[in-house]
Amino acid sequence: MTLNYKFRLYPTKEQELVLEQTLDGCRWVYNYFLDKNMSSEYDMNYALTELKEQHPWLRNYHSKMLQMIAKQVAAARKTAAKGILSYRKHNDFNAFTYNQSGFRLENNKLSLSKIGSIRIVLHRKLPVNVKQVTVCRSKTGKWYAVVACDVLRRLYSTIIYRKPVGIDVGIAKFCHDSDDHTEDNPQFLTKMLRPLRRAHRRVSRRQTGSSNYKKAKHMLARLYERINNKRRDFLHKTSTYYSNRYDLIFLERLRVMNMAKNHRLARKILDASWSTFKNMLQYKANRVVEVEPAYTSIDCSRCGHPVPKSLAVRTHACQKCGAVLDRDYNASINILQRGLESLMLLLLPVERREVTPVEIAMQSRKQEEAYEFIRR
Ligand SMILES: [Zn+2]
Repeated sequence: MTLNYKFRLYPTKEQELVLEQTLDGCRWVYNYFLDKNMSSEYDMNYALTELKEQHPWLRNYHSKMLQMIAKQVAAARKTAAKGILSYRKHNDFNAFTYNQSGFRLENNKLSLSKIGSIRIVLHRKLPVNVKQVTVCRSKTGKWYAVVACDVLRRLYSTIIYRKPVGIDVGIAKFCHDSDDHTEDNPQFLTKMLRPLRRAHRRVSRRQTGSSNYKKAKHMLARLYERINNKRRDFLHKTSTYYSNRYDLIFLERLRVMNMAKNHRLARKILDASWSTFKNMLQYKANRVVEVEPAYTSIDCSRCGHPVPKSLAVRTHACQKCGAVLDRDYNASINILQRGLESLMLLLLPVERREVTPVEIAMQSRKQEEAYEFIRR
């Protein structure tokens, strides 16, 4: 498994100039490949050798770095609609990559071939097994190194789980889990909406390209950066909370259709947060399983009786069994139950055929535990 770590770089004025030049050079190569309508990585690598003959300045670039651009174009062609890519302008080409070679990390310095050694702040333990270093420029002009490391993923048990949990994500609260723990939606978002709108308005009033326009753009980028930092911090803390406490986590599968439909900024950021949260859980936690979202907020978690309610109704009150509990709490218990049921359905037929009696015994004990959960 590959994990990425992001570290801040502090280049000197001269180094920053070289970094900018490197970005420009890479962008030139990128646009050249587009211009010649190349799509196979092999063709592009071949073209690179010729390009270096015609344009000797390209020899000042680490050759693996240029090859990575070919890789980048080939990969982007595959995902782009009809394989059509657009030329990159100065502002939307922000990263170049050293793969396998051309970099060295030591003593708070990142040494890059053909560039020099740049001060790096290793705010956490220096990762081992570094495979790749990507240098990138943020929209606000800060420089970072994204260090990719090969990590051996610890093997986890898929037979016995000690602590399962179901998590319901929502708008009113960020999440509510089946142990009745809630995480509020971080207030920074609503607080930042007004300044954001104002900054957007300021940009649109300025004359495009003027120095005031650039200033306004920079202010806007800084606001977004600040929101993003706070958001990531919150998501990291919340996902760590769950991955430390539970070894089996059930989440609702996110409804992509609904996500694409809404235009409001707050919702957009929130939607992005949920999928980032899921991604973080997936690499931090023992096991994450997605559950079909149908009826989780309607069915009674105690007796299964459907209790239809609008979004405004915050409590679940069942007429049949008399259960009264928070609407999201009810949903999260349903998610946990559905998840456990779906896992058992998947496990049973295959496992029964091949496992030893001991394992069957363990498994049925697990099922009892699971049903114990369902009965609660
Ligand atoms: Zn009920």
